[in-house]
Amino acid sequence: MKLAKSLDRLGTESAFSILAEAKKLEAQGKPMIHLGLGQPDFKTPQHIVDAAKKALDDGHHGYVLSNGILECRQAVTRKIKKLYNKEIDPERVLIMPGGKPTMYYAIQMFGEPGAEIIHPTPGFPIYESMINYTGSTAVPYDLTEDKDLKFTAEKILSLITDETRLLILINPNNPTGSFVEKEEVDKLAEGLKKYPHVVILSDEIYSRQIYDNKEMPTFFNYPDLQDRLIVLDGWSKAYSMTGWRMGWSVWPENLVEHVTKLIINSVSCVNAPSQFAGIAALDGPDEPILEMMKKFDKRRKLIHEGLNSLPGIECSLPGGAFYAFPKVIGTGMNGSEFAKKAMHEAGVAIVPGTAFGKTAIDYVRFSFAASEDSISQALENIKKMLG
Ligand code: PMP
Repeated sequence: MKLAKSLDRLGTESAFSILAEAKKLEAQGKPMIHLGLGQPDFKTPQHIVDAAKKALDDGHHGYVLSNGILECRQAVTRKIKKLYNKEIDPERVLIMPGGKPTMYYAIQMFGEPGAEIIHPTPGFPIYESMINYTGSTAVPYDLTEDKDLKFTAEKILSLITDETRLLILINPNNPTGSFVEKEEVDKLAEGLKKYPHVVILSDEIYSRQIYDNKEMPTFFNYPDLQDRLIVLDGWSKAYSMTGWRMGWSVWPENLVEHVTKLIINSVSCVNAPSQFAGIAALDGPDEPILEMMKKFDKRRKLIHEGLNSLPGIECSLPGGAFYAFPKVIGTGMNGSEFAKKAMHEAGVAIVPGTAFGKTAIDYVRFSFAASEDSISQALENIKKMLG
């Protein structure tokens, strides 16, 4: 059997292998607190579940349009109008099986040997993996250079060359939980006007999970960039719908045909009942989201304070998403050693920083999508582990 060489360059998402290892230990009788995987621990709100059941009862069992059911795409544009006061043509919206396929397709569309793609490190690992897979050159901007793990416009703009095809932004970011406010994003958007050859992929999947009533600095704010802007968002995080595989993205008009072809060549379309659930989520009440955020906010403060009280650990306050990304090197362990010990000795599953990029050696990621009791217990166990 002779496999394609490109497979050697494909990476993975280690949070899944950590889950598998933690489950194995659990099966052997070791108690485990799961702070590894990045998914909200709440049930999908009932009105959303009901809409999917009704869609099945109503006979929505067949193929649907590859770019998504029109009503679902229209629900996305209504939501964008409501959140950001921007009018988007539903023909520019694509319904995807999750947030991930948008990165996969966008990088497939621009990546090839010789092309440069700028991306955050540490960042969601699929970006770097896909860049390498296509044979293009990954050009990272290192968030660990900043004490609050935020990007700056200046740094990103300094990396652009004639070969740059795509710039990837994740705000708020996974794994750091850092959130860059509008003022800096405005600067970046202004600077990007000088580089019309650079396409922007703005991953806004955590757009509904920002703390302290701050405004989401969406890239929809910049009319001059719309003809080269891809916005990735979706239902997974905001509505606690990770397993439904529902995402959306907005594309420049001239790219819609290409991405639709990639969808037809791979998944055909997203299952219809999920899309009806998606409509109910977007058009339904925001209270469930606000309730989840209240809980996340309490947990954020708990974990931030708890981690900083431990010897050798420093953690900046997450501004968005549900991740804390402390520096643990002061404990005498690097991130990988710390995560391993946490799993085996403290019974706490967390992810080493290097799962998100080479430079994050000194860090680990805690997902605080778990109850306050679990978080307190995890902190207690780690305190004991550190002696
Ligand atoms: N973007 C980022 C930054 C993420 O963290 C994730 C999931 N953890 C995704 C996209 C993918 O979301 P989905 O599960 O909807 O594919």
